Amino acid sequence: MNLPQRLNRKHLTARGGITVTLSGITKKGNVGGGSVGKQGKSGISWAGATWSPIRGCTGCGSAGPHGERCWGARWAHRQNHLLPGYATANGWTGRVGLIESALEKPLRRPTPTCYAVGLMGDLFHKDLPDWARDRVFAVMQHAYSRGHRFICLTKQNERMTAYFQAVDLYERWLDAVDPIRRKWTGLPSIGLSNPTIRPLPHVILGVSAWDQASAEEACRWLRQTPAACRLLCLEPLLGAIPELDLDGIGWVIVAGETGPGARPMHPHWVRAIRDQCQAAGVPFWFKAWGSWVPSTYDGVYHNPLCDGPQFSPRAHGRDCHDFGDGYGAVRLKRAGRLLDGEEHNGFPEIPR
Ligand code: SF4
Repeated sequence: MNLPQRLNRKHLTARGGITVTLSGITKKGNVGGGSVGKQGKSGISWAGATWSPIRGCTGCGSAGPHGERCWGARWAHRQNHLLPGYATANGWTGRVGLIESALEKPLRRPTPTCYAVGLMGDLFHKDLPDWARDRVFAVMQHAYSRGHRFICLTKQNERMTAYFQAVDLYERWLDAVDPIRRKWTGLPSIGLSNPTIRPLPHVILGVSAWDQASAEEACRWLRQTPAACRLLCLEPLLGAIPELDLDGIGWVIVAGETGPGARPMHPHWVRAIRDQCQAAGVPFWFKAWGSWVPSTYDGVYHNPLCDGPQFSPRAHGRDCHDFGDGYGAVRLKRAGRLLDGEEHNGFPEIPR
């Protein structure tokens, strides 16, 4: 999917967000629109690269169902040789901080890139001070002329909303942007408007949710957050969400769970969200099934596979899951990202 070079009037909506193109069912679409570098290569279907200017966490707390299964902690642990002290094989150490050496990475990269921001932690973690967040957003602001786009995801939805509603946010950002502008004089600046009124146009703010209750909560906080585009990230999707109020939401991503103890995702849950997105005109990105894929996977899902001759539970044991309603799932290393035989690469129109 080709994205417009610049935001123009027809992309602005009455809801204060950005209109979306329902690319919906697109085969092999642009992967987040960003090119992928060797360093920070994302491996994430919806982003071209990752940028980790903050690191560390202390768990999801009541905001998440899977702190002990945190993918970010596993990833940080694998990078301990580069930056030790934040994660062990058992999870986070409790240390949370700004990574100075990574802070200006997007400014150094000339190729327009879609960055997933701060996945080795949570940008809105309570132990990260606001001045650190200010510096991260100051880099994003000055990186606009590079053509980059940024996707920030959090489970701390209430703290993110409070951060973007703060009356002194504009003054703080002006202070944070100033030294970056003086250092990176070669990069033209778009000028900084009050972000509580005019959010950065190339920054998507997202909240994670996993079932009906958490999705309602996430959307409620998102709608109160000034943002050019608001993302509801349903990963891992752990339950049905039959009633999804997408008013004010600009993008929805769905994915299944991965890693040790991953739980299977029912195809009906995914279809229902896809259909609600299509009805609301909201782009839908189906990232991946996770560690489990619906049985009889041929794009139709017509056979209760766990009871079938090919994938009987007896033969597969714990690698076969029966949803109990005629549907089953099997554990696969490469479960893929086809839903009913097609990729779903809906992506909001944002400037680059
Ligand atoms: S980084 Fe995110 S998913 Fe991991 S423990 Fe922290 S809040 Fe939970």
